[in-house]
Amino acid sequence: MVTPYKHEPFTDFTVKENKEAFEEALKYVKGELGKQHDLLIDGERIRTDAKIESTNPANTKEVVGVVSKANKELAEKAVESAAKTFEDWRKWDPEARAGILFRAAAIIRRRKHEFSSYLAYEVGKPWKEADADTAEAIDFLEYYGRQAVELKNGKHVESREGEHNQYIYQPIGVTAVIPPWNLALAIMAGTTVAPLVAGNTVVMKPASNSAVIAAKFVEVLEEAGLPKGVLNFIPGSGGEVGNAIVDHPKVGLISFTGSRAVGTSIIERASKVQEGQNHLKQVIAEMGGKDTVVVDKEADLETAAEAIVVSAYGFSGQKCSSGSRAVVHEDVYDEVLEMVKERTEKLTVGNATEDNVYMGPVVDQSAYDKVMSYIEIGKEEGRLVTGGKGDNSKGYFIEPTIFADLAPDSRMQQEEIFGPVVCFTKARDFDEAIDIANNTEYGLTGAVISNNRAHLEKAKYDFHVGNLYFNRNCTGAIVGYQPFGGFKMSGTDSKAGGPDYIMLHMQAKTVSEMF
Ligand code: NAD
Repeated sequence: MVTPYKHEPFTDFTVKENKEAFEEALKYVKGELGKQHDLLIDGERIRTDAKIESTNPANTKEVVGVVSKANKELAEKAVESAAKTFEDWRKWDPEARAGILFRAAAIIRRRKHEFSSYLAYEVGKPWKEADADTAEAIDFLEYYGRQAVELKNGKHVESREGEHNQYIYQPIGVTAVIPPWNLALAIMAGTTVAPLVAGNTVVMKPASNSAVIAAKFVEVLEEAGLPKGVLNFIPGSGGEVGNAIVDHPKVGLISFTGSRAVGTSIIERASKVQEGQNHLKQVIAEMGGKDTVVVDKEADLETAAEAIVVSAYGFSGQKCSSGSRAVVHEDVYDEVLEMVKERTEKLTVGNATEDNVYMGPVVDQSAYDKVMSYIEIGKEEGRLVTGGKGDNSKGYFIEPTIFADLAPDSRMQQEEIFGPVVCFTKARDFDEAIDIANNTEYGLTGAVISNNRAHLEKAKYDFHVGNLYFNRNCTGAIVGYQPFGGFKMSGTDSKAGGPDYIMLHMQAKTVSEMF
């Protein structure tokens, strides 16, 4: 019997012992930096000549790890290995598979600060954000393990006299897992273990910016007892390795999380039936966001300002759920803007590994260039209220930035910036605020700050997002509490961390017998 699911608590770093323990872990991980990490195919470690060098975005001279880089041939070998191993793994008792997840959760929990430290070094996560990422990874392991056990005997269907009907769930086959770098541990872990615990085998191609943390997670699953060949680890370029696994005729399911551009191209490629393919490929694609915090005139303005700041700048605005738009009722617009400005100017920016700062860097040079170019666009399209400067002399640091008075259809209000920039637009009334909130092609998260119950009810039905939050920020979904996934061009609404997620990695089978 497993205990009921509860989410992993966050660490309180104001407690001296916790702060010291984290500093100790950072010191330990610093000593581990620069190591080699190999591919894992059919249980064998493979070291290649081609490498991915993962560096600290807050200190670009610091090499976090050197990771072997797969190519098309190795990717195909990994799929073949996964296809072979599937024949055994699919018949394992779901409870035994879940046991491996529970053990992996226990291992990570014991080494929680070590994993969070890797997140601080490799993707520049401030302590609090890193701790939440690690906690979410533990949650996915615990939650999906329980889901698999619950589905073990399928679901009830009726039987008539002399007939016995069963409705059971079976795995699909080889799953290609392609995660992003931003929830570098949580999403990578969650999208890997969900197919595994359902009985599929996996080829996982991590994002290059977070290949070291992925390698460390693969080690944990091995230590927890995952048999050889069930999980194959093949870092490499999206164009070469990503395409090779998406196109492979033996892949049955693709689980992608990342940008809209790559997600839609994967859906298109997966729809082409390849030679030797005897099934339709299923695709889970969770993609970008352009998420809005709506502020009503009848609202607690402190709550509104706090929600906007937390949504916009957590992990430097590099969350798919980041609130990069604030749509505010005209009666309270100036006041809310001023309150957000005041809070924003107090935020600390710096090297998240060395100091407990609020905001670290953005992840790499191309992210830096992209955000800085949007800041230039913002100056043309709107009014720069605060921030706007960047410094990439040591790491990729950008000030938390506010633009005001943007037109709802401006590029700043339409395109995913993925950096610490929040864009304000004024609305005449609540109906117009919801219309503006809906006028992007994305539909991932949103928040409404209002004390008007009728307005909240309207938003519940008319604000088209997969995750809608009232009187709080629009980030920070918790596994098992706020299942996560987007509408419209934000994705297939798979609802990670929700009760239906595991089923997306399985096919339902009806078995009917006459007695
Ligand atoms: P990305 O699309 O650039 O990369 C995601 C993954 O796809 C990486 O592993 C990358 O190597 C791989 N890839 C790139 N090109 C590929 C190709 N042609 N074929 C196959 N794979 C390929 O995204 P990113 O920069 O890693 O992550 C940021 C994006 O992810 C943002 O748009 C963000 O909103 C989104 N995101 C969405 C969610 C969600 O749940 N909806 C969660 C996190 C991030």
